[in-house]
Amino acid sequence: MSKQHYDDILRFCKFAFKYNQAMRNFLLISFFAIICSLTNAQNQAPSASQVETTFDPDSRTFIFNYNLTDTEGDTCYVVLQQKIGTDAFYNVDQATGDVGSGIIPGNNKSITYNVPTSVDLHDIKLRIFVYDRHTPSIQEMVDQVDIDKLKSYLDSIVGRRHYKSNPNHLIYVANYVNRFMIQNGLSIGHQFFKYNNIDFPNLIGRHEGLNNQNLCLINGHYDSAEFSPGADDNGTGLAGVLEACRIMHNYYFKNNLQFTSFGNEELGLIGSIDYVLNGIQPNQNIKGLINYELLGYYSDQPNTQIIPPGFELLFPAQATQIINNQNRGDFIVNTGNSTSVPLLNMWNAASAQYVPDLKVMAFPLPGNGEIAPILRRSDHVPFWDKGYQALMITDGAETRNHNYHTANDKIETLNFEFMTKVVKAGIATLATLAEPINASVQDIDLYNVLKTKYIQRPESIFIYPNPVDEVFSFTYRGISSENTIRIEIINTSGQVVNNYPLDKNPDGSYQIKTTHLPSGTYILQIIEGKYISNGRFLITGK
Ligand SMILES: [Zn+2]
Repeated sequence: MSKQHYDDILRFCKFAFKYNQAMRNFLLISFFAIICSLTNAQNQAPSASQVETTFDPDSRTFIFNYNLTDTEGDTCYVVLQQKIGTDAFYNVDQATGDVGSGIIPGNNKSITYNVPTSVDLHDIKLRIFVYDRHTPSIQEMVDQVDIDKLKSYLDSIVGRRHYKSNPNHLIYVANYVNRFMIQNGLSIGHQFFKYNNIDFPNLIGRHEGLNNQNLCLINGHYDSAEFSPGADDNGTGLAGVLEACRIMHNYYFKNNLQFTSFGNEELGLIGSIDYVLNGIQPNQNIKGLINYELLGYYSDQPNTQIIPPGFELLFPAQATQIINNQNRGDFIVNTGNSTSVPLLNMWNAASAQYVPDLKVMAFPLPGNGEIAPILRRSDHVPFWDKGYQALMITDGAETRNHNYHTANDKIETLNFEFMTKVVKAGIATLATLAEPINASVQDIDLYNVLKTKYIQRPESIFIYPNPVDEVFSFTYRGISSENTIRIEIINTSGQVVNNYPLDKNPDGSYQIKTTHLPSGTYILQIIEGKYISNGRFLITGK
């Protein structure tokens, strides 16, 4: 690895680490607007609207007046949810009034919430989550899978993604996935791990629902083998995760959806091992992981599928089925260990119901699959070994795809019709696991209620160049050298996409990197104690 490359990676990692720290230390808010109006749904989601907030600072009491509407007039569940810092939204149990189950639609509803003194009001975000007894259609989600989107993701992803042979493209893809997650309204929670003394990210975006301690994960690693463009391995898996994210973030679920792309899988499951050891919080409950590991290689020609040695004995029924089908590589493999049988069966059932023309071959393994090492080579294994339910979904790697880990693992070799069906089955399974609910969310604008805490400084921040390409500069001379300064970058949906303390520069000049942000208009806010200043900038050309 050249010195230049090493510096590039380090610079990325420093930036990324800072970004991650910022996410941890401060608020990251996703204003989950229901941008996709679910007009085809049989039942409209109820909603809380016209929220008027008052706050009494002495008693630390919020009162929210709202109107509850539901087209069908169903009684509703109303939940007040609170997010502290970069944590997820959790249900506030202490709220009183028109909150809980059996709330009848109508005007002038009211919720009272007395904020515990342990909560810093700067760190708090609140939202009203409303749902009824109906369930959105999983078929409707499945039907939205778009073959052209899958192709376009692969166009961006494919190319060597390895820290030695092509760190630039590895960084490019990590940034691409990060931007994609932000654009689809996810809460970013990247987790960093060290490999050869370099920090790498596990890319994590969460779609928050009703019970955010319950995680339903879907993963496709973003790195490739050293000298392979990695179209099938694992561009297809990552593309499947992105498509699930694009479609599913428009719905709400009882559980939290976590879209994940682990790093450095090819170097020995480095990212996923670190995630299982260090990335799962004590209050989190892993409902299951769907791990995509090559989804796009297919052939309906005879003798295109090898049965791995020993599989005739381990899986006689499956081996016979393949032989009777003249060894055609025309099915997707669904593998789980003994703990994961419920999830394995869930995939089979969801696939049969929603994507009946996808041929699935299931391989339930005893124990943790030690008996079949060829099925223990991807990011599901650390989950198996820790007792969590996890599946590997694969086209069979080198038992079918002779381009596996070579320079020939290219887009032209993929079968997108097959891959589309697999991605549909994955969405059906993940939705079944996460349990869709007919819900809507109303974010509460606390800034307008609490803003007396901040004093707007009259001069705006001069940002240059503007429009911004990759980096912008600005000058900020603080009120006092004693104060700490932090910046917030907010997009036009009100989502805080970056939020971290500035390392102070004595001459007051600063540079901010924006390669991780999608194109669009942003507001830069600089917060110094109770003073706030802002400027506006545009990012073009991504
Ligand atoms: Zn792989």
